[in-house]
Amino acid sequence: MSLPLQDKIAAVTGGASGIGLECVRHLIASGAIVYILDRDKAGMDKAHAELGERLHGIEVDLFRHASIQQAVDKILSSQGRLDIMFANAGAYVGGDAWEGDPDAWDRMLNLNINAALHSARCAMKPMMKQGSGDIIITSSVAGVVPVVAEPIYTASKHAIQAFTHTCRRQLAPHGVRVGAIQPGPVVTPLIDDWDPERRKAALEGGGMMQPSDVAEALIFMLTRRRGTTVRDLVLLPTGFDI
Ligand code: NAD
Repeated sequence: MSLPLQDKIAAVTGGASGIGLECVRHLIASGAIVYILDRDKAGMDKAHAELGERLHGIEVDLFRHASIQQAVDKILSSQGRLDIMFANAGAYVGGDAWEGDPDAWDRMLNLNINAALHSARCAMKPMMKQGSGDIIITSSVAGVVPVVAEPIYTASKHAIQAFTHTCRRQLAPHGVRVGAIQPGPVVTPLIDDWDPERRKAALEGGGMMQPSDVAEALIFMLTRRRGTTVRDLVLLPTGFDI
């Protein structure tokens, strides 16, 4: 029996942990062949041991656009195509803006914005040539609502929204769909960087989602008929006060 994403070739940035890893599991269960692009070699080896031969790990430094390009070239030379680019990797910086560490801001902005833009860019021409493909970017509820506790993170995700929806319209005539997924809080290692009080309250109050909630939403976006694009998919814990 053919699965919904049977033999589709997918790249997942930040796929060695958290949301990315769970999405990798769901992509493989849906029939895809998946390449994780991440710097965490041990995490990718662990995922490979769990998920088997349909999973490949490529060590990538997402801060270097040449490293992303090399990884995409490697996928294209071994598979001949790329059907799904899930530009997912990101990091978190919260807190009052005036207390901010400018170096930490730069690292986060580079990852959340530049790495996502370059990952998407590397997929565009091959997908346009194929006349099909899906580029999905992990944004956040902070991409569509200003979250006061996290001005710099919010700024990064608003930038992602702007990129996604300009590119969505540029690429639509070429048969390539571009969309963004906007989760609220999800239990992953990323929230270790939250303010401890906020983290404790969210975890104890049940106001968090699981990576599988996001993975199910990703598979939903990818399995719509080609004439339909899920432009944005905002996922919130029920009762989330935004
Ligand atoms: P995570 O910390 O669990 O995973 C991030 C992954 O990115 C790791 O595997 C890490 O090794 C990789 N990575 C980081 N910098 C890298 C680099 N320079 N080169 C290569 N790989 C690098 O994070 P997560 O919570 O799964 O977040 C994934 C995405 O979801 C991010 O874009 C994040 O902003 C977004 N998001 C997370 C939440 C949440 O509450 N966890 C909510 C909304 C959106």
